[in-house]
Amino acid sequence: MEKQDNGEIRANEAGQEADEAVRAAGAPRRGMDRRNFLKGAALSALGVASAGALAACAPQQNGGKAADASDGAKAGEDEPFKAEETVDADVVVVGCGAAGFMAALRASKGGANVVVLEKGDSMAAPNGIYVSGPFAVGTDVLQNKPGGTTLTVDDAFYHVMEYSHWTPNPALMRRCLETSADAVAQLEEIGYTFEEKNFRFETPFMGEKGGFHAITNASDERAKLWEQALADHNVDVRFSTALVSLATGDDGSVTGVNAVEKDKKNITFNAKAVILAAGGYLGNRDLQERFLHTRKLNVARGGDSICTGDTILAAEKAGAALEKTYGYCPCEYGGTHANASRPAKQDKFDQNTAFKFGLYGCLLVDAEGKRFINEGLLCDYPMSYGSEQILKNSPWYAVVDQAYVDAMSTQGLYNYTTAKGATEDTWFIGNYFKDRILENLPADIEEGIEEGWCFKADTLEELAEHFGLDELPQTVARYNEFCDAGADAEFGANPWYLSKVATPPFYVTENEPSAWSTFGGVRIDDCCRVLSAETNDPIPGLFAAGTDAGSLYYSPYYDIPGYCYGLCIDSGYIAAEEAVAALKA
Ligand SMILES: Cc1cc2nc3c(=O)[nH]c(=O)nc-3n(C[C@H](O)[C@H](O)[C@H](O)COP(=O)(O)OP(=O)(O)OC[C@H]3O[C@@H](n4cnc5c(N)ncnc54)[C@H](O)[C@@H]3O)c2cc1C
Repeated sequence: MEKQDNGEIRANEAGQEADEAVRAAGAPRRGMDRRNFLKGAALSALGVASAGALAACAPQQNGGKAADASDGAKAGEDEPFKAEETVDADVVVVGCGAAGFMAALRASKGGANVVVLEKGDSMAAPNGIYVSGPFAVGTDVLQNKPGGTTLTVDDAFYHVMEYSHWTPNPALMRRCLETSADAVAQLEEIGYTFEEKNFRFETPFMGEKGGFHAITNASDERAKLWEQALADHNVDVRFSTALVSLATGDDGSVTGVNAVEKDKKNITFNAKAVILAAGGYLGNRDLQERFLHTRKLNVARGGDSICTGDTILAAEKAGAALEKTYGYCPCEYGGTHANASRPAKQDKFDQNTAFKFGLYGCLLVDAEGKRFINEGLLCDYPMSYGSEQILKNSPWYAVVDQAYVDAMSTQGLYNYTTAKGATEDTWFIGNYFKDRILENLPADIEEGIEEGWCFKADTLEELAEHFGLDELPQTVARYNEFCDAGADAEFGANPWYLSKVATPPFYVTENEPSAWSTFGGVRIDDCCRVLSAETNDPIPGLFAAGTDAGSLYYSPYYDIPGYCYGLCIDSGYIAAEEAVAALKA
């Protein structure tokens, strides 16, 4: 991977070559009969806290013979995968990110001979290295925080199940939460350190409960810890090696992975269990269109994402069911735009502050110039409640006047909003904006105008015409009445967010959403076994974890900080337990 000046990562040639190879091949789908596969009682392989849940899962036997590249015809619908080399393993993990790393480590600790395939060319590639931290319950970190914790698995479980209308797999969700302390302990064991922190928003469990575990190691140190831990446990890590398709036996069971190495060498990795953990499909606009009905979701980390849905497509071709729910883990730092040279990013990075209009609670309109959202809700909950509408209405437009620009560049949102009546008690996210004054706003606006995503005009009619926002003048007239009345009669935005558009010149920014990750993928059961589209039974030999696994996530994203990463490490842990149990069945 190539390291950019701003510390972010973009795909290198090897990843792109691998993408091309991925597009070129796939595994045929075959029918299967569950009764041929279910066998025996479960093994409690690793002696972990969730052994009860483990025992509930019947491990499958790998019904088919191991894939043998020489017999061909396992990989592609159009042409067979021709392996130049075969490698045998007990477990092959695809993707060395948050879920894949955990799965590889746990499977090797369970006694399996493990190979990890990673499309990126070093441990600097996986998103899982760069996270702020996971949500978890019952950890030593929570117990040791001042005053301890009152957070229970029940608290978190019922909260997320109600939030998600019981859409994800409930048994899997509970098991993930029950596993979360062990998953965090596993990371502590390899050298991670955590501190319990209140996040700035979306925190149903702030204060005496807690739950967000901020990682205190620097990211380059984390990469070294991962490398060391995998080396210590003899895990064979293959960088610049991407899954192309799944190898399947005649009975439909998964017998390994067909992969391409950087130099285009084709390798078949025969395995008794394959764990898919390749991080979703953010880098694949066709899959965005298929699953999210937009092509406009940008990469919050910057550049392109090498997570291009390869495993989801390969699993589908191998007969896996895909889940119903698709969504994304949104960037909470503001709108962005494909044409912007300095898109919205984490606070620590240089960025164009005019994108802040996209989520500061001021007037937002759709492509027709009509309001489409409670703008204050987006400011308060940019990752959860606000995120669906900005995805569906992308690009969306923020409209402000000169008075608002002056206020943001001299006072900042905190002073502006508290002057309109918000208090520390009523405006829970307010503190985050303290001292965040957008001093560079005038220059940033000029840059946005040059780049074509921002426009300035003396009249609303002129402003509307530029981006074709036909309804804008009428929308502003009505919105200004709400501002004067101090009440949003349309969507109920908090009055302190209502910001009149009255003092020319007027400004509009065109915004697109960006994401840390996508949600939605293969359907899995509470043992992280991938289910067949035909029978809804486990496909022998195939597991999935992390954001590849559709049955963990909901749309919109949960309102709990760290929940995406938390479920990744939990499910990686569970998938490894189950894969090892299946080996021993
Ligand atoms: C900068 C950043 C910060 C984040 N912070 C948080 C946070 O604090 N809390 C939180 O809950 N979530 C956070 N997220 C969301 C985050 O993406 C997930 O929590 C987590 O990393 C997802 O884990 P994963 O294992 O599903 O995928 P990833 O960690 O993305 O790993 C997937 C891996 O699979 C590899 N891969 C892709 N295709 C193939 C293929 N064909 N063959 C082989 N390998 C392949 C990729 O190169 C990648 O390394 C953050 C995301 C980013 C980008």
